[in-house]
Amino acid sequence: MSELLYNSTRGGETGCTASQAVLKGLAKDGGLFMPDRIPAFDFALSALKDASYQEVAYRVMRLLLTDYTEEELRACIRGAYDEKFDTPEIAPLTFADDAYYLELFHGKTIAFKDMALSILPYLMTTAAKKNGVTNKIEILTATSGDTGKAAMAGFADVPGTGIVVFYPKGGVSRFQELQMLTQKGDNTAVVSIEGNFDDAQTAVKQIFGDRAFEAELAAKRVQLSSANSINIGRLVPQIVYYVHAYLELLKEEKIAEGESINVCVPTGNFGNILAAYFAKRMGLPIDKLICASNDNKVLFDFFETGVYDKNREFILTTSPSMDILVSSNLERLLYLSAGCDATKTRELMEALKTSGKYAVTEEMRKATRDFVGGYATQEEVAARIRSLYEKTGYVIDTHTAVASKVYEDYRKKSGDKTPTVIASTASPFKFSRAVMEAIAGDVSKLDDFAVLELLRDKAGVPFPPAVEEIRHAEIRHNRSCKPAEMESMVRSILFE
Ligand SMILES: *Cc1c(COP(=O)(O)O)cnc(C)c1O
Repeated sequence: MSELLYNSTRGGETGCTASQAVLKGLAKDGGLFMPDRIPAFDFALSALKDASYQEVAYRVMRLLLTDYTEEELRACIRGAYDEKFDTPEIAPLTFADDAYYLELFHGKTIAFKDMALSILPYLMTTAAKKNGVTNKIEILTATSGDTGKAAMAGFADVPGTGIVVFYPKGGVSRFQELQMLTQKGDNTAVVSIEGNFDDAQTAVKQIFGDRAFEAELAAKRVQLSSANSINIGRLVPQIVYYVHAYLELLKEEKIAEGESINVCVPTGNFGNILAAYFAKRMGLPIDKLICASNDNKVLFDFFETGVYDKNREFILTTSPSMDILVSSNLERLLYLSAGCDATKTRELMEALKTSGKYAVTEEMRKATRDFVGGYATQEEVAARIRSLYEKTGYVIDTHTAVASKVYEDYRKKSGDKTPTVIASTASPFKFSRAVMEAIAGDVSKLDDFAVLELLRDKAGVPFPPAVEEIRHAEIRHNRSCKPAEMESMVRSILFE
């Protein structure tokens, strides 16, 4: 297999191997790493119908992570997708009301971030070994609630690594916050910031771009990397479950060989849906990619008008992991739709930085025609959770409900009956208060655990281990700072 190399979307760094790109996370010029071509599947889908999740993962990931040996990659996959997941299927499909819900929440922290963050630490430590890196690798991560916990769960006590997580105070659910604050591991740190997710993400990117800080760390044998979806090591493992879902539908004879499906993805940072787009470009028969937003509908407006404009109110919603106005991974789609033109991509990103908006060309818009935008308000999300529950007994979380509502609208409006997979990105237990309010009305008098119990009884499914964990765990973190203080916070965590 010929080697694939990675280049920055902004042109300032080129020719990195996959493992180097994983180690770096973000390119030096602030761009995101992209492969120099998108490889096609070198297998027939029908031939993999009976393959395990792990086997599909290997067959897909090897095409993009070309400098990992078979032995290395298989070891990473084995370590990641094991009994940490509460089902051997890893990512099962559930059919309810005209759609297949691809449940991506069966990992340790009961959100879809586990799908990639279970394997990222393995990919990263393997990459360090391959490249002779002996520095400590410190992961800096901004989180809208789910990445932080999933990344810490993956990196906790991994030798040679450390992790610092920044989350927006008041911008995550209580369950998400407790999951983070109770995280074990001597190499983990959690910091709440006075600001929203975009503030946290921007400040983290700034720290990555600070060459003086980089030199200061290097002198102490530390180098930074990212566990956010800007890291190619997040994107690649996320392609796998779309392929696996398609194979499952094929195996169950829900679709015929070669038949197209649609996917509908509740979107924030544009990482999950971008992975579906990669799957399509690699040869998976996907027709429409339905991009579902909550009230922060900057992506919906973008697909409608070709103008990306973040100058608007940041709205805190019941789907906090999608409360984002700067969707980092869109940069990768821009780059592709501009024909891999790094100069054009850099121009757009500079416009975003200076004026908070940019407009793409007609040609670029044409290149993204496979995407359909939609959005759902919080009221619509609550109504959708209830209607799906009343119709089928199936309980979905608030993020998944954004996609479910957007898909319902899309199907009505377009008449498109293509079999559709909805990415189900979190367990309802993680957002139990909003979910129960939607189903049972006012639950403000009940304490957190009573709400969880009520949900368990309504949904008829047992508590995932993550719920039991949160009940008994002690709080271990209490740091807090302003976005402008994040760099000095990292310094004090590392060296004091
Ligand atoms: C992160 C997250 C999303 C958004 O995914 P992106 O890849 O950022 O678009 C949606 N739902 C949940 C539950 C999440 O944790």
